Amino acid sequence: MAKKDILSNEMTKSFIIRVGGNDALSLIKVCESKNRKVTDEEVAKKTKLKITEVRAILNRLHYRGIACYDKKKNNQTGWYSYTWEIKTRRIAELIIEEQSEEIKKLEKKLEFEKDYVFFSCKTNCGNVPFEVAAEYQFRCPKCGKPMDVVNNKKRIKDIKKQLIVVELALKKLSN
Ligand SMILES: [Zn+2]
Repeated sequence: MAKKDILSNEMTKSFIIRVGGNDALSLIKVCESKNRKVTDEEVAKKTKLKITEVRAILNRLHYRGIACYDKKKNNQTGWYSYTWEIKTRRIAELIIEEQSEEIKKLEKKLEFEKDYVFFSCKTNCGNVPFEVAAEYQFRCPKCGKPMDVVNNKKRIKDIKKQLIVVELALKKLSN
């Protein structure tokens, strides 16, 4: 995914906000607009955020490897100054990692739905696997009413749909 797309894509936008907070997106845009490393003071001025807020966001982003800094000592004052840069590629990488995990989870869920037959009463006290239903002579362990096979076709369809959505998003990010 191209650099400019990373900051306009809905999935990446919500990811940035989730890991960096509500103002993280505007902060990243300011950093990116400079085409060079920026100081936290510069970012604060541009975003109209407090310097402490800017630092908190940068630290959160740094923790995930999205923001990196250079540290330089001012020989006159003895103070250190930090200049920051945003790794947009890293944002895409993190989401790809996260979404790949999500795909694995959905695939497992799908396998489970396909492999197991569930039973439930009409009152819907909850689904139980075949072994449990058989043990209770196909009467609900909670209310005692007869239990029937649960049709999980809709659930399987829903999981498949979710999978397609995630896989498409992933493809877009990997390009
Ligand atoms: Zn029941």
